[in-house]
Amino acid sequence: MSAYIVFFGPPGCGKGTQASKIKDELGLAQISTGELFRKHLSQQTPLGLEAQKYMSKGALVPDEITIGMVRERLQEPDAHQGAIFDGFPRTGAQAQALDQLLDEMGADLCMVVDFKLPIEESRRRLMGRQEGRADDKPEVIEKRLNDHAAVEASVMPHYRARPGLIKDVDARGTIDEIYQTVRALVKTCLD
Ligand code: AMP
Repeated sequence: MSAYIVFFGPPGCGKGTQASKIKDELGLAQISTGELFRKHLSQQTPLGLEAQKYMSKGALVPDEITIGMVRERLQEPDAHQGAIFDGFPRTGAQAQALDQLLDEMGADLCMVVDFKLPIEESRRRLMGRQEGRADDKPEVIEKRLNDHAAVEASVMPHYRARPGLIKDVDARGTIDEIYQTVRALVKTCLD
């Protein structure tokens, strides 16, 4: 039994927070490409330094780099029983690559949780974020918010072709309210 699930949604929708809670309670790995890039950068690896060129502008890191990093991450033991993908895929090519990576592992994508949040609320949350992320500057925030529509248009059609795969979640409630909904959905992949 393996549960591979994509958490999709605009920046600031809380998908990372929810993925982390699922990891803590249900033991699924959290594969956050943004976090992985930031970790590489903090360790000054060549991959991290290359990714930084794009991240600092709020641009997407090229598919080849991103997919290679996810491929490696999936080989770690904690990802063998399942994982939540948080911030991945963000392009059609990444979505296709994910299908292929899972196929190679003899696994399937169980679900795409689509966190719905109005753009004004995303902006408000990102502007108030206190983590001090280098890409949480107003001009970069605007770019990431605007780009999300393009990300959605390239990724979601891939998943809409599979009836029942996508589960919409209203991301406007409290963290705990949303977690109850998300947890119930994720559990259906573990049964
Ligand atoms: P996040 O923490 O998900 O907001 O990601 C921070 C930054 O990392 C993004 O603005 C991109 O520059 C880069 N990034 C994260 N995930 C991806 C991805 N799947 N594809 C390309 N770039 C990504």
